[in-house]
Amino acid sequence: MPHLLMIGECMIELSQSNELGEYKQSFAGDVFNTGVYIKRCLKESAQVSFLSVIGEDKMSSQLLSLMASEEINSRYLYRCKSNKMGLYIINIDQYGERTFDYWRENSAARHLVKFIKKDTDKTAFRSVTTIFFSGISLAILSPDDLVNFWEFIECRRSNGCQIVFDPNYRPALWSSPNKAKDAFEMAYSLSDVVLPGVDDHKNLYNHKSAAEIASHLEAKGIGEIIIKNGDLEVLISVEGRRTQIDIIPVTEVVDTTSAGDAFNGGYLSARQSGKSVKSSVIYAANVAGCVIQHKGAIVPKACFSKAIIPLA
Ligand code: ADP
Repeated sequence: MPHLLMIGECMIELSQSNELGEYKQSFAGDVFNTGVYIKRCLKESAQVSFLSVIGEDKMSSQLLSLMASEEINSRYLYRCKSNKMGLYIINIDQYGERTFDYWRENSAARHLVKFIKKDTDKTAFRSVTTIFFSGISLAILSPDDLVNFWEFIECRRSNGCQIVFDPNYRPALWSSPNKAKDAFEMAYSLSDVVLPGVDDHKNLYNHKSAAEIASHLEAKGIGEIIIKNGDLEVLISVEGRRTQIDIIPVTEVVDTTSAGDAFNGGYLSARQSGKSVKSSVIYAANVAGCVIQHKGAIVPKACFSKAIIPLA
């Protein structure tokens, strides 16, 4: 059975729920969101694990309950005494514009590499068939931890594990664009499948188009390149052969927060279930299209299952 390991940070999310200034609490984080959508799509036909670090507090325990209800494996969710989960607030102004404030500088997830190293079970990662991480997963690591992270990824890859990467570039999380670029170049060199967005590369590499991004990544020998571009096309490059798939724009967009995460979840699920790259992009676009018609990064299960046919 496929076993997908999602590596990154999940945060406590507070979103303004009404004009009285009251907040609704939930949990979200890019690779975590993707993991939830993969499990909802693949059901019992795959195992999905989340690798991160949380605190020993009550709120951290609530994440475990959420994971249990989404059937995400918590074997690799380590707990740490000294740090707690990061938190972010979504503010909505009078014009409906959203802004984000973060408290994540000292989050427990920043220590995830130390916990991987401390995991003494020799068989710990043997069953993992796919590892997924993002530029955000990399941005929260110290330079020393990053070196150890690459060693871990190289080791898993040499054991036959598929590596999947989404750069998800967030300038505020990096000390300089060059640091981000160095990390992304390393991630790309170790990846089998990559899922960048056009905006990621426009901002960091000054690439002007999906075609330019494809050329950059094809030159690295990456076999499966999927380039997202909002409600415009998705450009696919498989072993250097390019195809463009048009996206049907959603007319009633409510919240695009996790469009890319949902797309990644749909795409990886469909690929795991044996669909072609092209059919997987179409399935992924449906998953993302459903998610952006609801509020929040992780849409209620009932809304999701009404719109998306599982693959298992
Ligand atoms: P990110 O969240 O990484 O910026 P994008 O904005 O590129 O990701 O969107 C990811 C995917 O979500 C797109 O490839 C598309 O399938 C879907 N999507 C995003 N916005 C829309 C939209 N307005 N209508 C339909 N689909 C959309």
